[in-house]
Amino acid sequence: MVYVCESCRFVFERTGAADDCPDCGKLNIREASREERDAYQKTRAERGKGDDVKAGA
Ligand SMILES: [Zn+2]
Repeated sequence: MVYVCESCRFVFERTGAADDCPDCGKLNIREASREERDAYQKTRAERGKGDDVKAGA
């Protein structure tokens, strides 16, 4: 599941339930909306692609 921190807007993924933000430590988190989740997945996919290019060079 993907979560968003309402305090610092940090987006992160947890396999189980999450209580606190790994970035700022606040308990002010909620489940990410579809748009936020899509943006998160896209960013992660782009990063992965960059890593692959680097590893193959
Ligand atoms: Zn936070």
